[in-house]
Amino acid sequence: MDSHFENEEVHSRYASQLAVSGFSAVHQQKLRRAKVLLLGSGPVVRAAAQGLIVSGIGALKIIDNRLAALNSLRTELDGGGDCQIAYQLIESLSSSSSELESQVAVCDLVIDVLHDWQEKLSLSDLCMASGKPLLHCGGAGMRFQLFCMVPGKSCCLRCLLASLGLEDAIGSRESQGVLESLAGIIGNSLALGAVKIISAFGASQGNELIKIDGLSGELEVLRGFDPVSDCPDCGIVRRKTK
Ligand SMILES: [Zn+2]
Repeated sequence: MDSHFENEEVHSRYASQLAVSGFSAVHQQKLRRAKVLLLGSGPVVRAAAQGLIVSGIGALKIIDNRLAALNSLRTELDGGGDCQIAYQLIESLSSSSSELESQVAVCDLVIDVLHDWQEKLSLSDLCMASGKPLLHCGGAGMRFQLFCMVPGKSCCLRCLLASLGLEDAIGSRESQGVLESLAGIIGNSLALGAVKIISAFGASQGNELIKIDGLSGELEVLRGFDPVSDCPDCGIVRRKTK
């Protein structure tokens, strides 16, 4: 038993999830040893970070291109329990790919709440190349989509977009804002996906696109996304796993 878990206070902090059937101290230890990289800011990122902190994730790194938004998150997430939280300002992800690459390399899982599709695709490329799971969140306003990309088990974000067609890919315009209550659902869905993958608890939603419409209350799950035949990212992973 990890000495960390001999501490009753620590054990009682996670008593609720440790009481879930099948979820054990081994799962909890995996969460404690994990580092999650969060890209973006705003209410969805805050909700995702809070969900990860209360779940017992060991370390969080939050990267965004706006200092004020990072400072706001720092204030809101202050006192994050056992979780070590670091913040980094990167003004342009596309021109700082080596820095981003090094951050992806030292984390266990990446969560994408970026607004720029080119940046999202670049992040997908980095995660595919380094074999890191990526939880994608797109959308704004009342409509969002979630996709769990696990290299070797699912297609990449480029292939997902190619399958969806442009008109079906939900735009990610920050100006649309988001209701706090919906941000909580989206952020915690991301946190749940991360907890399941990291702790290897339950089935991950790999290769499933979940569309959530907060206005109508409809939730749609789309499956069966295949890598396009000439995708270099999915091709690299296929060759590595052969
Ligand atoms: Zn692909």
